[in-house]
Amino acid sequence: MSIAKENPKKSPGHTADDFFMVRNTLIIGLGMIGGSLAKALKENGFSRTVVGFDRSQQAVELGVQMGVIDRGCQDIKSAVTEADLIILAVPVKATAKVLAMLKPYLNAETIVSDVGSTKGSVIAAAVEVFGTVPANFIPAHPIAGSEKSGVQSANSQLFVKHKVIITPHSLASQQATQMIARMWQSTGAEILQMDVKKHDEVLAATSHLPHLLAFSLVDSLAQESESLDIFRYAAGGFRDFTRIAASDPTMWSDVCGANKHAVLQQIEIFSKGLNRLKQAIEADDEQSIKGIFIRARAAREHFGKMLTGTAYAADSQQKNISFFIEPNSVLKGQIKVPGDKSISHRAIIFAALGDGISEINGFLNSEDSMATVQALRDMGVVIEGPHRGQLKVYGVGKDGLCPPSGDLCLGNSGTSMRLLTGLLAAQKFSTVLSGDHSLSSRPMERIAEPLRKMGAEISTSENGGAPIHIKGGQTLQGIDYVMPIASAQVKSSIMLAALYAQGSSSITQPANTRNHTEVLMRTLGIDIEVTDKTVTIQPCGQLPSFTLAIPGDLSSAAFFIVGATICIGSNVVLKGIGVNPTRMGVIHILKLMGAQIVLQNHREINGEAVADIQVEYSTLQGIKIPRQYVSTAIDEFPVIFVAASCALGITKINGLSELRHKESDRIKVMVEGLRALGINIKEQNDGVIIEGGQLQGGIVDSKGDHRTAMAFAIAGLIARGPIEISNCSPVATSFPEFVENSAKAGLRIRKEEANVSS
Ligand code: NAP
Repeated sequence: MSIAKENPKKSPGHTADDFFMVRNTLIIGLGMIGGSLAKALKENGFSRTVVGFDRSQQAVELGVQMGVIDRGCQDIKSAVTEADLIILAVPVKATAKVLAMLKPYLNAETIVSDVGSTKGSVIAAAVEVFGTVPANFIPAHPIAGSEKSGVQSANSQLFVKHKVIITPHSLASQQATQMIARMWQSTGAEILQMDVKKHDEVLAATSHLPHLLAFSLVDSLAQESESLDIFRYAAGGFRDFTRIAASDPTMWSDVCGANKHAVLQQIEIFSKGLNRLKQAIEADDEQSIKGIFIRARAAREHFGKMLTGTAYAADSQQKNISFFIEPNSVLKGQIKVPGDKSISHRAIIFAALGDGISEINGFLNSEDSMATVQALRDMGVVIEGPHRGQLKVYGVGKDGLCPPSGDLCLGNSGTSMRLLTGLLAAQKFSTVLSGDHSLSSRPMERIAEPLRKMGAEISTSENGGAPIHIKGGQTLQGIDYVMPIASAQVKSSIMLAALYAQGSSSITQPANTRNHTEVLMRTLGIDIEVTDKTVTIQPCGQLPSFTLAIPGDLSSAAFFIVGATICIGSNVVLKGIGVNPTRMGVIHILKLMGAQIVLQNHREINGEAVADIQVEYSTLQGIKIPRQYVSTAIDEFPVIFVAASCALGITKINGLSELRHKESDRIKVMVEGLRALGINIKEQNDGVIIEGGQLQGGIVDSKGDHRTAMAFAIAGLIARGPIEISNCSPVATSFPEFVENSAKAGLRIRKEEANVSS
C-alpha cells in the first residue's frame, strides 16, 4: 500500500499524492456511518479519492450528488484492487458476506477495517472467510451515531470529539493499526484501544442495553389500551429516555444477535436492579429507594465529570488552567476558606462505618475529598450531599461495606488512597485502588509494608505506587510499628486497619504529625492512648453515628496568612479555622520570622481546637527554621518559601525530603518558580536556602500541584510585574473556590482555561 508523507507542507517539489495519507479509500455501505466517514475523509484531505459502494444504486448516486464520495463504484473488482484502504460500513450481520465478496480481489497490502457495533462477531466473520484474521484487518467502532439512517444523514462532523475503539487482534500489523488510528484522528475522534471481548462487554452495558430498554419501554406502553393518551401526554423525561427507540430496528436486532451473551448478561443485571427497586417500593422502604436514587445520581454526576475531564477520576492534566496575577493588590477583610481536607476525609470514612445516620457540616467539597465520598458510595454507602458543606451519611456499620463493582478510582487524592488502603486491607472482599498519573507515581509501599506485617495481602505497581491490589478475607494481627518517616497518612492507614485487627497495635512516629484521626477516634469512644510519639489502639466493635462540624482548613488559610503578612496595607480575618497543635507549625514559623498573627475566640469543637485568625502586614526576618516545626508545617512549605522570599536576609530550611514525594517535587518546583521570579534560592537535597529580595513578574509552572500553584499566586501580591502560573487545575483538589475567594479579598487574579488536545 502506498502511504504519503505525514502532513507535508505544500512546496513546489511535492506531487498531489504527497498531501494525502492514503490514495484510494473504498467505503462499502453508504449509510449514515459510511457516508459520514466518507465525507469527513474527503473534507479533511485524508484520502485523495473516496469511492463508495452500496447495493443500492440510488444511495451511490445521492452520495455523489451530495459530495459525500468522489465517485461510485462501477465494478467491485477494480475498486477493490485499486483501494489502499477499505472500510466496511454495513450491518454486522452482513460482514462475512461482504468480506467473501472482496476476498478474490484483495491485495495483501490493502488495509481493511469496519465500523460495526459489535466486534466478536466481526472477528468470527473474518475467520469464517479467511480461515484466520488477516494481519491487515483492523476492526474498529466509532462511539458516535444517531437514530437516523442512510446516506442522506451523512454528517462529516459526526465523529468530532467522540471516541473510536480500535480492537486489533494479537497478530495485527502495527502499521495497519496506526493507519486506522490516524484515519479516525483525522475525523476529529479520540482513539482508544480495547480487547474484543472487553469491547463487547462494555458496549453491551453502555449502548446495547439502553437501546433495548428504550425499544422495550415504548413497545410495552404502545400495547397498553390507552397508549394514545400516554403518548399524547408524554413528558420530556419520556421523550429523552425513548429517543433512541427511533433507531434502525434491523441494525439493533443484528446487534442483539451478534452480542447475545454479553447483552443477556446485562439484561440479567438490570432485571435484578429493577427487582430490588420494585421490592423496596412494595415494602415502603423509603431509605432503600432513596439510596438507589442517590447512588444513581451521584454515579451519573461522576460519569459526567469524567466525560468532561473535570472530575477527580479524570486526569487533571487534561485541562490546563492558568492563573494570571496583576501587581498592586492588597488583602482586606474576612476571607472564607473551605473545610479542613484532612478532617473531611476522616469524617466521611467514620460516618460510613457508623451504625445509623451521621451529619457532617463544613465538609470540603473538593475533588480529593469527593474521591473518598465516591469510593464509599461505590461500596454501597448512601451519602446525601454535599450541599453547602452538609453531608448526610447512612452508615453501613463497621463490617457493612460491599464489594465495589470495579476499581476504586481516587484521582489525585493521596489521602483517599492511603487511608482507604488501611481500611480495605481488613475487609472480606478484594479491591483495586487506582489513581491518576500523578497519584500513580507517589510512594505507596510505605503503607503496604506495615499492613503486610499485620497480615494483609497487598501488592503495588512495579514502581511501588498505584494501582494497589488488596486481597480480601485476611485476618489482621495487631502490630508494634516504628515508622521510618513522619506521615499522618501512613499512621492513619495503620490505625484504620488496627480497628479490625486481633490484639492491640502501637505506632511510633519519628516526629509528631497531624492527629485528626486520633481526635476523631477518641470522640467516637474508640480505645486509644497517645503518649509522646506513640499511639496505641485497640480493635473495636460497633462504631456510633455522629454529628460533626469541620473547621476551616489551616493549610488553605496559610496562603492568606502569608499573603497578608507580606503585602503592605493588608489586614485580614479568617474565621473558624482549625488550630490543632499538630498543624500549627506554619504559625510558629511565621511568628518566629516576625509575623503579626493573632488567634482570637479560641474554642473546641468535636475535640478539635478552633480559632479566628487575624493577620496584618509586618516585616519578616530570614531565620533558620527549627526542625521541630517541619512535620507540623509540611503542607505549608510552598507558601513559607514565598514568605522567606520577602523576608530580610537568609532563610534556611532543612528536613524537607518528604516534600519531594508530594503531588510534585515541591522543593524543585518552588526553587525553579521563585528563581524565575527573581529570587536567589539554592536547592539542597532536603531543603533550601532563600535570600529575601524583590519578587518580579514572570511565568512559572506549578507542575500540576495545587499548593505550589496557590503559593505562586500569593507571590503575585507583591511581585513587580504580572505573574502567569500554568497547570493550576489541581487547585480544585483542595480549594475549588481559591480564585473567587482571593479575588474577593483583593488579589488581582483571574483564571483562563485551555483544553489540551490529547
Ligand atoms: P444505515 O444508515 O442503515 O446504513 C447501512 C448500510 O449498509 C446501507 O448502505 C445499507 O445498504 C447497507 N447494507 C444493509 N444490509 C446490507 C447487506 N446485507 N449487504 C450489504 N450492504 C448492506 O446504518 P448505519 O447506522 O450507517 O450502520 C452501519 C454500521 O455502523 C453498522 O454495522 C452499525 O453497527 C455501525 N454503527 C452504527 C451506529 C449508529 O448510531 N447508527 C454507530 C456506530 C456504529 P442499503 O442502502 O441498500 O440499505
